[in-house]
Amino acid sequence: MRPFTLERPHDLATAIAFGAADGERTDYIAGGTDMMQLLTDDIRWPGRLVALDDGVLDDRIELGPDGTLRLGAAARMSDVADHPAVRDGFPVISEALLLSASPQVRNMATVGGNLLQRTRCSYFRDPGVPNCNKRSPGTGCAALDGVNRMLAVLGGSEHCIATHASDFAVPLVALGARVRLSGPGGERTLPVADLHRLPGDTPHVETVLAPGELITAIEVPASRAARTSHYLKVRDRASFEFALVSAAVAVDVDGDRIREARVAMGGVGTKPWRMRGVEQALAGARCDLTTFRSAAARAADGAQPRPGNAFKPELMRRAVLRALRTVGGRP
Ligand SMILES: Cc1cc2nc3c(=O)[nH]c(=O)nc-3n(C[C@H](O)[C@H](O)[C@H](O)COP(=O)(O)OP(=O)(O)OC[C@H]3O[C@@H](n4cnc5c(N)ncnc54)[C@H](O)[C@@H]3O)c2cc1C
Ligand code: SF4
Repeated sequence: MRPFTLERPHDLATAIAFGAADGERTDYIAGGTDMMQLLTDDIRWPGRLVALDDGVLDDRIELGPDGTLRLGAAARMSDVADHPAVRDGFPVISEALLLSASPQVRNMATVGGNLLQRTRCSYFRDPGVPNCNKRSPGTGCAALDGVNRMLAVLGGSEHCIATHASDFAVPLVALGARVRLSGPGGERTLPVADLHRLPGDTPHVETVLAPGELITAIEVPASRAARTSHYLKVRDRASFEFALVSAAVAVDVDGDRIREARVAMGGVGTKPWRMRGVEQALAGARCDLTTFRSAAARAADGAQPRPGNAFKPELMRRAVLRALRTVGGRP
């Protein structure tokens, strides 16, 4: 690990000022479960590390008067997963968190940090590999013709096909959640779906955050669909593993008709991926197996697999079908 200065501000304004002043030379650390790996593996070497753990961000988990779920950015993954309001009103969020990492990691990791964790592309995580545009801009991409089993089939470019690693982000995108941001330019709110950028020819620029801008909270609107929701994660081993393919599905059924459906997938895109085609095939249709099958058939629309992950489109269709059958009561 290279030397750096550690700052422990006591308020949000001071934390923002450090990042705004130093730009690229400053990194933030919350629970530290990803950042510590990046530092010790020599992937990041900030001049200044700013800790967000001393009351800078709140960790409240609360429901607003209209049922909106508000998560302070410092809320721990385990606390959010176990909260009765989350389990009852937003089961897909609780399930996605419980299928992430391990109890020890979830007890430390914050939900703000979860959204901004870096990719698990093995070339990115190995400083011995010289060609990784995300880690060292302009050096090429070892994964394009290398080992790309875990990598993206949607949203990639000729410069990067790294998957976004967060499970938690997938239901947030499906449910239309928003992030509250605070930075040198003041406060703003964004859909979680707009927080991350596609790699294009600048894969090292991963989000729309300005220097010094911090996530302060996540807001998830209440909906009937959110109450009937489910997260399915397909991975190489049953725990402590990232998704090969995952599906967040929320369905509002009225009689025998689907009034509204929300579907997003993880493990397949360079950012969490909303499945608009699947949603359109479900909305207004009969809630039966025939509908689920024809909707799931659209799950891999636009997918561009490489030889190492050519299995993903079929796995995507099967995962969406299984998640729909679970949530729609048609096992
Ligand atoms: C062994 C292991 C297995 C894992 N498995 C999974 C998994 O299956 N699924 C999954 O989704 N995740 C998994 N993770 C990732 C884990 O969920 C993340 O490391 C964790 O959520 C990051 O949160 P943190 O608070 O520790 O963030 P940190 O490590 O402190 O920070 C992560 C990044 O976010 C930035 N940051 C943190 N908070 C803020 C904020 N409020 N505003 C702006 N920037 C901020 C930091 O600067 C840093 O760039 C795994 C991690 C490990 C170590
Ligand atoms: S896919 Fe992205 S992160 Fe992985 S090696 Fe290529 S540029 Fe680097």
